[in-house]
Amino acid sequence: MALVIDLGAIAANWKSLADKAPGARPGAVVKADAYGLGAARVAPALYAAGARDFFVALAGEGRDIRPLLPEDARIFVLSGHMEGEDLTGLIPVLNSPEQFFRDRALRPKGQFGIQLDSGMNRLGFEPGEWAAIRAEALAAGPQLIMSHLACADEPDHPANAQQLAVFRAMTEGVDAPRALSATGGTLLGPDYHFDLVRLGIGMYGGLPYAEARPVVSLALPVIQTREVKPGESVGYGYSWTATRPARIATVAAGYADGLARALARQGQLRLWAGERSCPVVGRISMDLITVDVTDLPFVPEALEILNARQGIDAVADLGGTIGYEILTSLGHRYPRRYL
Ligand SMILES: *Cc1c(COP(=O)(O)O)cnc(C)c1O
Repeated sequence: MALVIDLGAIAANWKSLADKAPGARPGAVVKADAYGLGAARVAPALYAAGARDFFVALAGEGRDIRPLLPEDARIFVLSGHMEGEDLTGLIPVLNSPEQFFRDRALRPKGQFGIQLDSGMNRLGFEPGEWAAIRAEALAAGPQLIMSHLACADEPDHPANAQQLAVFRAMTEGVDAPRALSATGGTLLGPDYHFDLVRLGIGMYGGLPYAEARPVVSLALPVIQTREVKPGESVGYGYSWTATRPARIATVAAGYADGLARALARQGQLRLWAGERSCPVVGRISMDLITVDVTDLPFVPEALEILNARQGIDAVADLGGTIGYEILTSLGHRYPRRYL
């Protein structure tokens, strides 16, 4: 009756993705608390598996894991060098001329990366801005020059080749290590690998890494069961009404635990008892979900919402979202157990 996080599966997914880019250093993205799974456990497990290059979004996330990793682990901060931020032991990825010039004299030599905008228009130097500081930046010895693909989860999207060409043009003749790809780009093939890849969602068992080992399972305790008669309704808004004598189980989780109301809207969300699944009926409320368990021979102590049969992407589809959002939304009220 817990959120079970398989650290061995995360490490195995990291390794199998790394094997797809044998010429590149396999970096590990542990931003947003390792996609909600607990960076304090995930980052050391990845270090033990061989990862040395870690990526977080914010300096604060980097400060949290810095003491947990040996000195040879590099922690890159994707948001770069923000005003007043303590970057001790961290490597800001500078995104703009403003970030480049901020505290430039205080920055230890080579203690930075550079992000270039190759088309996504989210973060990074525009070509003209880059041209203006390029010589000075390269002379200071950046640890990484990177960009990010906007459409890598769609292999046939023309933006992939366009961004690749722009990145190549912007980094021609540069002798610093280069990085373009996250999980999706890593799967696009060797042209996209460069010197380092930044592996994220695939490690955590999500698409587009279809071969990933599942990482999370989540079982929700059954609080009580009741019999309802045909014509009786269940939950807020009376949105579901029994058409036969039914047994309803109420489980202890809801939208406050990251299981959004929208997941049940199409009426297709199911909870699992071993090999069998049962439909969620009625609305998901803040702390509770109701399930029609009439067809189970007996009601177990807990029902699973995430398991090897129903992964994060299957659940995400039902709510019109993506596996990333399911993972990063998982709450902290249910106990977490690490394998
Ligand atoms: C989040 C992120 C990644 C990891 O992406 P995945 O799709 O999860 O592999 C890599 N690079 C940057 C810049 C990111 O923001």
